[in-house]
Amino acid sequence: MRIVSSALLILIPTGTILLLSAMAWQFTPPTHAQQLAAIGLTTALPQPLQRALEPQDDFEPLPEPGPSDWLANHAEAGQTFDQFTRSLPNRPDNHRRKLYLQPLGGFDESDAPSLDQLRRFTAAFFMMEVGVLPPSEWAGNHITSRRNPWSGQRQLLTGDILNLLQARLPEDAFALLGITMTDLYPDPSWNFVFGQASSRDRVGVYSFARYDPRFYGQAPTADTHKLMLRRSCKVLAHETCHMFGIEHCVWFRCLLNGSNHLVESDARPLHLCPVDLRKLQWSTGFDVVERYRRLLNFDQQVGFEDEPQWLEKRLRFIAPHSWSRDTH
Ligand SMILES: [Zn+2]
Ligand SMILES: [Zn+2]
Repeated sequence: MRIVSSALLILIPTGTILLLSAMAWQFTPPTHAQQLAAIGLTTALPQPLQRALEPQDDFEPLPEPGPSDWLANHAEAGQTFDQFTRSLPNRPDNHRRKLYLQPLGGFDESDAPSLDQLRRFTAAFFMMEVGVLPPSEWAGNHITSRRNPWSGQRQLLTGDILNLLQARLPEDAFALLGITMTDLYPDPSWNFVFGQASSRDRVGVYSFARYDPRFYGQAPTADTHKLMLRRSCKVLAHETCHMFGIEHCVWFRCLLNGSNHLVESDARPLHLCPVDLRKLQWSTGFDVVERYRRLLNFDQQVGFEDEPQWLEKRLRFIAPHSWSRDTH
């Protein structure tokens, strides 16, 4: 990977990304040796975790980015496991041990992902207790809003939301995450933003509005609801990983890959590569087998298609004995 100059991205009214500056940054996918170095030495770890961190074929390499893809436009060198631990990231402890979701505005299950499903996914993904705060707690709070000057859609100002979240961060919260079906904007000069967070203040807000095909005027299909849930789970897990100090991934195809557009975010898997799995495991200390089982259980219940197969394959490799005993 070589940084020559960084690119500047701006959003123009149509939402199209316009690239300015001479594009001298060029991403080179990492070698196997670089991937291993990013994972770091694992010999002192317990056997199942060691196996879970082996970079086998289940972890796909990153392809060369297309011209509008994230890595063609963002000069990211990647964060190794060692760099992550040396950065002294926030870590949950006995006191700050829970994740909270704060719905903002309506989450009507006919056109929004189910809050209970989002809670259960987040709990399995991070292996932490997850609470959903009542939406009513927001009644009476003033959040600046506007009609988007180009699309006419209603939008909420992220800065106001982050201030309110910070003021009501529960005592036992590791992080408080605002989620909404309303579109967001960070500043009057911006068209929109998918979300905004402060890992230092342990608060963030994410909108699922643009993950709904109906936002772009497309008719819903039988799969729209599942697609919305999958995209929402993905963005929630990706953004919450940033709260743990985990940066974008350049090592494998991974949930933590940066994304410039919906096609690119849809192509990201719902799982972490070995480098980022190790970071999250270091942060929360979960049992890697138990975590994959809980995720498998959730994915099967909600009918996600590819992920259960991937998880079963990983479990067969990581814990062949317990896996065969419990499934026959
Ligand atoms: Zn990100
Ligand atoms: Zn990764």
